[in-house]
Amino acid sequence: MNNFPIDFDQAVKATFLERPNRFLVRCIADGLGIIDAHLPNPGRLWELLLPGASLYLSSHAGSNRAQPVKRKTSYTVLAVQRKGFPIFLHTHLTNQVARYLIERKSIPSLENAEVVRKEISQGRSRFDFLLKENGTDLYLEVKSCTLFGDGVTMFPDAVTERGKRHLLELAEMGRNGIRAMVLFIVHYPHVKWFMPDFHTDYEFSATLLKVRHDLRILPVAIEWKSDLSIGEEVKPVEIPWGYLKGEIQDRGSYLLVLRLDRQKLLKIGRLDTIMLKKGYYIYVGSAMSNLTARIKRHRRTRKKEHWHIDYLTQAADGFLSLPIRSSRREECEIADSLSSILASGPSGFGSSDCDCQTHLFWSEKNPLHLEAFHDVVEKFRMKHP
Ligand SMILES: [Zn+2]
Repeated sequence: MNNFPIDFDQAVKATFLERPNRFLVRCIADGLGIIDAHLPNPGRLWELLLPGASLYLSSHAGSNRAQPVKRKTSYTVLAVQRKGFPIFLHTHLTNQVARYLIERKSIPSLENAEVVRKEISQGRSRFDFLLKENGTDLYLEVKSCTLFGDGVTMFPDAVTERGKRHLLELAEMGRNGIRAMVLFIVHYPHVKWFMPDFHTDYEFSATLLKVRHDLRILPVAIEWKSDLSIGEEVKPVEIPWGYLKGEIQDRGSYLLVLRLDRQKLLKIGRLDTIMLKKGYYIYVGSAMSNLTARIKRHRRTRKKEHWHIDYLTQAADGFLSLPIRSSRREECEIADSLSSILASGPSGFGSSDCDCQTHLFWSEKNPLHLEAFHDVVEKFRMKHP
């Protein structure tokens, strides 16, 4: 028997294969073979959608009106299994989850609140709910949080302009005497700290830090059971503001993931001419100020070669950057961690000023499809007080 007011009894288990585009996954299910399913979640979900991950699909959640009208598949992804727990991915249903929890009186500090309306306009924006709490209006915006590591959960997992705008508008309402709140629903119970993901979305994070006194910010963690019902406990998650003040700065380290589609001979600065085989190159560097500008420079294809990596970025067929913001210079520690899971690149590459053998690594497969790679990124990104 399900206690969440959506009938998930028909959930189909499947195994994730690939994500051909943002809103589509390909998977394999017993008795159904290879099928495509709609993914109602715009996030990156890299660490969740690894090949072999277990998915929960619905064959009828497509009736939700938030779905696109034209659908090529009759299946919809509801959740993915991680660390033994289903992680709810269906962002269009997040508001139904929030409403259910509010009406069940299980959100700490919102026990006296009642839902008056959903999708309420205020000024230029529309927010998820208008609540009434002890006779006063309370505007509520709900965010769904599926990114977590060892005791830490972060939001967002991809840059969200809309999220930042919502924060600014709610904060302005707050300063004008209108009560406003953002509720982060964390779809995993075993977390102690909530942090804005300042590695991925620096602007959103700096904004959250700036407006934190103008609105209520409440992250709560819930547990999804294997039958996709929601556990009794809804746990408030602590935000370490003091720690965040020191860490939300535009500085730290970064990884560049560069793809070579065929092997290339490169003369790199004072290093010998080297043959780089095709595959993925992972470079670690740091900038203890103006990290964003540094990464932008790396992305530019036309530039005078200054660092070893400049030769490679200009030759690469694909470029992806992963900032790891920190008040500490950690590039050598990160290089050390990568050296235990990836093949080492040319000796001395990017490491003329330190004792590391190299700051360049190689992988035949896209490292984003490797759990061990995400573990390293998480280890450095999800530090806490
Ligand atoms: Zn080093």
